[in-house]
Amino acid sequence: MASAREALHGVFGFSGFRGMQEPVVARVLSGLSTLAVMPTGAGKSLTYQLPATMLDGTCIVISPLIALMHDQLRAATANGIRAATLTSADADREETIERFRAGDLDLLYVAPERASQDHFRRLLESARVSLFAIDEAHCVSEWGHDFRPDYRLLRPLMDAFPHVPRLALTATADAHTRADILVQLGIAEDGLVVAGFDRPNIRYAIRPRDSLLRQLQALLDEEPGPGIVYAPTRAQVERIAEKLDSGSRPVLPYHAGLDPAVRAANQAAFVASENMVIVATVAFGMGIDKPDVRFVAHAGLPKSIEAYYQETGRAGRDGDPAVALMLWGADDFARARQRLSEVERARLPGERARIDALAALAETAQCRRRVLLKHFGEDPPQACGNCDNCLDPPESADATEAARKLLSAVYRTGQSYGFGHIQKVLTGVADERVTQRGHDSLSVFGIVGEGEAALLRPLARALQARGALVQTEHGGLALGGDAREILRGEAIVPLVLPPKREKRRARSDAA
Ligand code: ADP
Ligand code: ZN
Repeated sequence: MASAREALHGVFGFSGFRGMQEPVVARVLSGLSTLAVMPTGAGKSLTYQLPATMLDGTCIVISPLIALMHDQLRAATANGIRAATLTSADADREETIERFRAGDLDLLYVAPERASQDHFRRLLESARVSLFAIDEAHCVSEWGHDFRPDYRLLRPLMDAFPHVPRLALTATADAHTRADILVQLGIAEDGLVVAGFDRPNIRYAIRPRDSLLRQLQALLDEEPGPGIVYAPTRAQVERIAEKLDSGSRPVLPYHAGLDPAVRAANQAAFVASENMVIVATVAFGMGIDKPDVRFVAHAGLPKSIEAYYQETGRAGRDGDPAVALMLWGADDFARARQRLSEVERARLPGERARIDALAALAETAQCRRRVLLKHFGEDPPQACGNCDNCLDPPESADATEAARKLLSAVYRTGQSYGFGHIQKVLTGVADERVTQRGHDSLSVFGIVGEGEAALLRPLARALQARGALVQTEHGGLALGGDAREILRGEAIVPLVLPPKREKRRARSDAA
């Protein structure tokens, strides 16, 4: 049998393994089941494709999407690997089954729902299976962000072939999801292999969104290379693309609502360009290979830390310095928490943890990279020297007392007024609405002095991010989460103050 390195040169034409590929391949070749957690672009496919060409029999690859399978099939076939897909979209299923039975396939891609079918199990019994590769393995866990019940059918199928090793692959698993994947797929705890997630050339910066277009413009002015701005909705994509003043630089939109020809043209233009900015929904960038993206900006909150990591990871693949800027607003968190009411009960803790993790990342005064990498189970140094908090340490204050005042004003005014009204009550502004409602005679009227007043807005934002304040259907503020503990003095509220530079800029804008 050729060595793994020989196969790496011969089949793939690569000069060496990357990152954790080699230990994963070595485990697979010695028949050990493994969960490999590797970031996107780390080269996960190779860790099963390479053994598949070396081992006797066929590697069964479970993949959640037909489009993904066909991409993989094209790439594998281009390397001369004998591969096929077995899906409802394939007309050549009979031929594929024949090839599989004849031992004429290295890789057979199937969707998880096929795994539950008796005739598929019988088909596997009639041939020789070398390996089960489970792509996007986080789909097996309710803790993951993309649970697919059909993945639960894989374990019974694989258990029927106890001598066939399993290789589960994912880019996106926090510690909780990881442990769950091991259990759900029957892989021993010591089978976990985690690759380094750090992208040292990416400078992370996360700020409250006080003036979106101005903040994005400042980034564009600073970074002349190609960049991606992610916006949460099609309408926002259109608006931002239109409003950004690009100078001589092309700025184009990309979203699913565009005419397919326009969309393809915009994507192609971006890939070819050296200075273009593309404003897009998150679907953009999945299949593209552009190593010189100099910045990725988020105009709103990503879905999860995993999504944030993946999306920002599209910057600086060439290893040169790149920037990841996220601009978040309290309303992003309010909406995310509102959506929790539609979530199935079993998934609620996972979804809530996802928002809390994002809030912690947005609100931290510590090194962003450390928070990010700790989320992925690593133990990075205290400071990275290449994120906003390391480069320009923010001031932080103990805002527990101010938080108690803010929360009790929300409570005493009946949990239905917006921030503006609460702010007036607290700072003692007796306008018509305040006096009409009798809020000028509440004990909280005017209890916030000038010094504290400046804290109120960032504080309201922070309290919303952590869920202690929630938005009602009518846009008013109400108590939620740990509000009661804060009021009782049982929880503290640290507050990161906005950087001085920005405050100055905001002031001169107003002038
Ligand atoms: P993932 O699935 O982890 O996101 P892929 O398997 O799609 O990553 O691989 C990402 C890219 O890296 C592909 O273009 C692949 O050909 C390339 N690649 C993988 N392994 C190596 C290697 N050892 N040397 C050079 N390029 C590699
Ligand atoms: Zn840092």
